[in-house]
Amino acid sequence: MLELNHDTEPQVLRCFRALNPPPYSSGTAIWKQYRDFEYTERSNQSLVRALHRMQEGLCVYCERRIFTIESERQNNERNRHIEHLRSRQNYPDLTLTYSNLALSCSTEQERVKSCGERKGNRELPILPTENHRHLFDIDFDDGSIIPAQGISSADEKRVKDTCILLNINHKALCFERLQILNNLQKIHQLPLLTAEEKEQRARQYCISKTVIGSPFAPTLRKAFTKFLL
Ligand SMILES: [Zn+2]
Repeated sequence: MLELNHDTEPQVLRCFRALNPPPYSSGTAIWKQYRDFEYTERSNQSLVRALHRMQEGLCVYCERRIFTIESERQNNERNRHIEHLRSRQNYPDLTLTYSNLALSCSTEQERVKSCGERKGNRELPILPTENHRHLFDIDFDDGSIIPAQGISSADEKRVKDTCILLNINHKALCFERLQILNNLQKIHQLPLLTAEEKEQRARQYCISKTVIGSPFAPTLRKAFTKFLL
């Protein structure tokens, strides 16, 4: 899961909220009004663009790549939606709060749903806006996300519940993570290289994978430190 730090709020959202301040009786209704407003304002999807930039093009929950708006238009294909971290249903007054918004992947074509679509109107035990990186770790044997060692049992439960709620340990996702981890391990086990050369290779691999927009970049950064530091 990404750790989010929301930057400057897009003007279109600020304007709409100034015209329509909370409280809201229905999060769904005010969100629909906002989307209509954004469309007529021809804002060129500035909200989606701002979130995409902040998240380095990755899904807030599973860290897979989300298409850019240009690529969506070119290929007539979309794999994301705007996600309310605290649900519109339970927290209607946060519907238009910038720090409550993020981009999550959409997996409608897949049999197994994950991330925002899986979460629905339920509430996350750990939010991407809190400082949470130290709570999560990766199981190098199966690619699953697990609680980090040494955290409290309450935090351990929060990590497990978050993973279940988002279904971020389903087979396909674990397999994708595992492939990346295996590549790192292969470099680590190369027989004819010195330790320094291995470190150099692994570093190059990680750098090439952790450029902006690479899927699982935060996971890779974690794996990199585990192997080499
Ligand atoms: Zn996702």
